[in-house]
Amino acid sequence: MYNFGDIYGNGQIKAYLRSSIANNKINQAYIITGGEGCGKTLLANAFAKAILCETGEACGGCVSCKTFDTGNNPDVLYISPTVKTGKTGTISVDDIRDLVCAPLGVKPFLHRYKVFIIKDGDEMNSSAQNALLKALEEPPDYGFFLITAVNYASFLPTIISRAITLKIKPLPDSAVAAYLTEKAGFTESEAKTAAAFAQGSIGRAVTLKNDAEFSALMFFAEQIIAGRYASIVEVIAAAKEFETHRARIDDLFDLLCLIYRDIIIYKACGGDDKKIIWKQNLKFIKDIAAKTSAPELHKRFDAVIKTIEVISKNANFTMAVEVMLLDLA
Ligand SMILES: [Zn+2]
Repeated sequence: MYNFGDIYGNGQIKAYLRSSIANNKINQAYIITGGEGCGKTLLANAFAKAILCETGEACGGCVSCKTFDTGNNPDVLYISPTVKTGKTGTISVDDIRDLVCAPLGVKPFLHRYKVFIIKDGDEMNSSAQNALLKALEEPPDYGFFLITAVNYASFLPTIISRAITLKIKPLPDSAVAAYLTEKAGFTESEAKTAAAFAQGSIGRAVTLKNDAEFSALMFFAEQIIAGRYASIVEVIAAAKEFETHRARIDDLFDLLCLIYRDIIIYKACGGDDKKIIWKQNLKFIKDIAAKTSAPELHKRFDAVIKTIEVISKNANFTMAVEVMLLDLA
């Protein structure tokens, strides 16, 4: 568990951290940033385990590694938005005082470092960040901080200046798909679709496998594209269904774009299905391509893109969706 070898891609970051450890040139604070599910926490854990390991290589066999893998290493403290308040979405100034500043005053029990892994550090408000800054400014030599975050822009410049930033890059679709088939039990077509969808994030792709709402979104997207919502009554009902998926609206629009893209490309390539991503429902793609003219497909695709734009500009959500559904029917 938790080895640099478990992290796909991002060879530069891994090489950099390995050499930092080998040459004993370790900064006391790092911000690990990148998209949802890209492996930030895995990298933080691999790094922490390696610097605490008695051999310096995350050997897996020493007391430090064994306790680390079971989550019982006494010199590793995990802080996340839910730890203390039980509420998702915030790390308060009290959390930082009680869970970082106070324990930082106590020397490590067994190891050279006392490691603080702050997950979703972008959920710290500015007073929490200022409290953390005090710890980062003059940490005892055993203090070591790893902060993960999607939203890098939320950090105060003073925090950023105290830390080394590691930016995890998205992986190519082919690498994500390879992982999904080799390690996560996806079929090849499931893997291709999930990889196209996850935009380089293995974590995001993996969660799609048993994601019931995602399955419902796929079905809904196909119904829309098939023109099932044609009458006013049906359009109003479908717009209500959009509303129920509001939290996943980006996924729904991504699906609509992805499937339209496939239909358009399939038609443009004269019926060659090699470039289709939505392989799990090839028949659907072929049916719609056969029934619909190329200009009409482009018109519908544009209607989806336009709707995404107007919604992003805070237009009335229901109205925008209704107009789009009428365009697509
Ligand atoms: Zn070890």
